[in-house]
Order: sequence, then structure tokens, then C-alpha cells
Amino acid sequence: MKEIKILYLYPDMLELYGDYGNIQVLRYRLEKRGFKCIVDKYSIGDEMPDFKNYDIIFAGGGADNEQSILSEDLIKYKDNLKEAENTGVFFLLICGAYQLFGKYYKSVEGNIIPGLEIFPYYTEAIADRKKRCIGNIVLDVNLNGKETKVIGFENHGGQTYDVATSFGKVLFGNGNKFGDTEEGFFKKNVIATYLHGPLLSKNPELTDYIIKYCLDRRYDEDITLEPLNDEFENLCRKQLLDRFLQV
Ligand code: GLN
Repeated sequence: MKEIKILYLYPDMLELYGDYGNIQVLRYRLEKRGFKCIVDKYSIGDEMPDFKNYDIIFAGGGADNEQSILSEDLIKYKDNLKEAENTGVFFLLICGAYQLFGKYYKSVEGNIIPGLEIFPYYTEAIADRKKRCIGNIVLDVNLNGKETKVIGFENHGGQTYDVATSFGKVLFGNGNKFGDTEEGFFKKNVIATYLHGPLLSKNPELTDYIIKYCLDRRYDEDITLEPLNDEFENLCRKQLLDRFLQV
């Protein structure tokens, strides 16, 4: 039986607005098609995982406090994570984790939380604590040449700068900064984004993009995924898109 191995980083500290749902959706869509999904977890104090042995490394969002506590631990694995990224392991990083993989995060108080510097962007929180990018968000994303709308929910004070290749164009909501036209960071094997939601439950096409990437890479093939019945997901998406984009 073909399998996909997921590593979930800091589940006890990075899990805002249903981020764990992303793993549940990956598992659901894999198992429906007869693939096995193995999920391992890593938290502070655990043995160092063999990062490059995984197909997907996932980390969710967190408050500034959690970010500053765990950044010290995460930085120990900087080279290992970089190596995993270089070998093509897929990274799905939400909000706080998105920020931690960049150069640094500057909090409202002006404290610098060092990042892994794996990607060249950086994030600074807006000085006014009450000002946050909060709400529903819709992006136009290009997945292997196919335009798709990605729906999520954002809640961040951090404003992210110097993103070379964004995840998508903002159709509704804020994005990397207040009123930005771009959201997240994207490369073939990395999606780093502010979108909670959980992101994958609202975006089956995006989930299948990740699944296909991982299966193709692990088994050296060009798989055509068996379609699933997404009637409810599509009805929900239509409802949300009608509401946010007033089409
Ligand atoms: N602490 C970060 C910010 O407010 C991330 C928040 C989150 O993960 N939702 O920008």
C-alpha cells in the first residue's frame, strides 16, 4: 500500500483556528483513495525527527508568546530543515510558522524573534496591538498552470515583507500586509501562508495538489488522482465565494 508520512511540528503550541484540520483533510483524501497516511508529531523535548524522511512537514499558527518560546528549539534544526526542503520535502506552514521560516519576526514590543532564515522574507508586527489583519480571505492561485480560488481566514498583526514569489493574488482580504495584493510565499514544494480555515478543508484542489506532488515524488510517477465526490465542498465554496466576491 502506498503511503505518505506527515510530520506535525509543535502541535501543542502551534494550532490556531483549526490548523490541525489540514492534516485531517490530507488523511481523509489519501485514505479515500486507498493510500496510507502516517502522522508523527514533534514537540519540545522529543527526539530529533529525521526530517528528510517525511513527505510533508506541517506547522500551524501561534501567538507571539509561543513563537518566541519555540523559536529557540526550532533553530537547532535549521540545517536539517533546510536539507529537507532542498531534497523536495513538502512544507505547509501556516501563519506563525510562515513567519518563523523567514529571517525574523519583530513583535509589537519590538522584540526580535529570530527565524530559520530558510526563506528570505521577514515580518514586523504593526506597532498598534489593536490593528490586525482579521477576516475571510480569497486568493487567486496558480497550481501547475491552473488558476484556482483559495479561500481561508486570516488573523495576524505581522506584516510580511520581501516575498519573492507569493502564494496568490488577493481578491478579498489583506494578505502579507494590510491591503496587499499578494499573499503568502510559494514554491513548488512550499506553501507558507496566513490562511487558517483550516485551509485545506475549504480547498480540495489545493489538497490534491499537495497529495499528487508527494506521491509523484515518493514513487517517481505522474499519478492521476481518482476524483472524489466534492459536492458538499463545492457547494460550500460557491456559497463563500458568492458572499466574499459578490459574483
Ligand atoms: N503571532 C503572529 C501574528 O500575530 C501569528 C498569528 C497567527 O499565527 N495567527 O502576526
